[in-house]
Amino acid sequence: MEKYWNKEIECASRAKMKKLQDERLVAQVKHVYENVKYYRDLMDKKGVKPEDIKGTEDLHKLPFLSKADLREAYPYGLLAKPLSECVRIHSTSGTTGKRVVAFYTQNDVDMWDECCARAITAAGGTEDDVVQVAYGYGLFTGGMGLHGGSHKVGCLTLPMSSGNTERQIQFMQDLEATILCCTPSYAAYIGETIHDMGLSPDDLKLKAGIFGAEPWTEEMRRSIEKSLGIKAFDIYGLTESSGPGVAFECSEQSGMHINEDNFIPEIIDPDTGEVLPEGEVGELVFTSITKEAFPLLRYRTRDLCVLSRKKCSCGRTLIKMAKPMGRSDDMMIIRGVNVFPSQIETVLIEQGYSPNYLIEVDRVNNTDTLDISVEMNPDKFSDKVKDVQKEERALAGAMKDMLGINPKVHLVSPKSIARSEGKAVRVIDRRKLHD
Ligand code: ADP
Ligand code: ZN
Repeated sequence: MEKYWNKEIECASRAKMKKLQDERLVAQVKHVYENVKYYRDLMDKKGVKPEDIKGTEDLHKLPFLSKADLREAYPYGLLAKPLSECVRIHSTSGTTGKRVVAFYTQNDVDMWDECCARAITAAGGTEDDVVQVAYGYGLFTGGMGLHGGSHKVGCLTLPMSSGNTERQIQFMQDLEATILCCTPSYAAYIGETIHDMGLSPDDLKLKAGIFGAEPWTEEMRRSIEKSLGIKAFDIYGLTESSGPGVAFECSEQSGMHINEDNFIPEIIDPDTGEVLPEGEVGELVFTSITKEAFPLLRYRTRDLCVLSRKKCSCGRTLIKMAKPMGRSDDMMIIRGVNVFPSQIETVLIEQGYSPNYLIEVDRVNNTDTLDISVEMNPDKFSDKVKDVQKEERALAGAMKDMLGINPKVHLVSPKSIARSEGKAVRVIDRRKLHD
């Protein structure tokens, strides 16, 4: 039986949710206009007044906010409450440039905890569970976010933070953790280490994992589920809109329900800014309608995905977002072809390789080069040059079928590629150095 943390909201009728969103949006636009000069100027420039926004159908009239705006307004330019009412700060991991800071009032923290509590409950968590939080703690939102949600549900919470993997596994075993929360790349690393320590999933009590903060493929999900003996759930969020928990997966494991009572999603064409109909791929945009201290309206996430209102077997009526394919800035254009790291990951796992790889892009004599280093399977390990070359050619062929361009594949020895305890760095693009 599906369990809900807040059934009234999670399974609300469309009409009820729309009414709630309308009321909250109208109040939020007023709050922002009155308290955030930076956004007021943007609205004035566009000729929009708070009175023009009567409901979600008017959302498209508002100006967008982008990461560039956040950097320009750094640190206090988008703050909508006096600092004396703020209780916390978090910051982005800085994956794609200068860090951005976000502020939280106590109500903002409570709302965030609520979102994560819904995610933990959807993954089967109750007060009887032991939740091991192996996301990094600190400015990064992963650790504190799931920690807050786990407390709220009443789970026994292990604030492990990331790293120290063997100790992590020791605690998992001794304290009988049932739910693991971390990045998918760290989950894969933990699974590998469990195996290396001579343990198997049967030696653990884990039943579920809540993994997010970076893109991961369905193939990666299956591989983690197998190595840890669990059901793996996706969770999405970003610092700018609080942290993990903006959207979470349910038992159906086919996309994440967005906490629409707090965040209104839109999908836009990243080039024209035009709102796209449901079902089309585009850039995800969020308007946070309940946040007090750092309430971003129409924030462009740069994450590419699809929204769907298709009925979900879990009974939730919250709109779903598909797994993000990556950020628009993760996409590499190589010899004129669009390539996502996730496509490469899919091929690797399908071909029986581990998800440990490094993509290097460069430009030599005005031609783009794509080199993919992949670890050899320990059980297929060979030091015969001929065997290795044959495997490399086969893998390069499978990559070409998926990507449309021919990469150079290098099989390297097992465990020679650095493992990630947080967000994995999988791409090095040296072309930027030549510009
Ligand atoms: P940074 O932008 O520096 O990485 P954050 O830690 O706030 O800072 O990361 C938020 C970003 O992480 C999102 O915009 C998205 O690109 C990525 N992300 C978070 N959760 C997921 C997920 N479940 N699947 C894919 N990408 C995700
Ligand atoms: Zn569902």
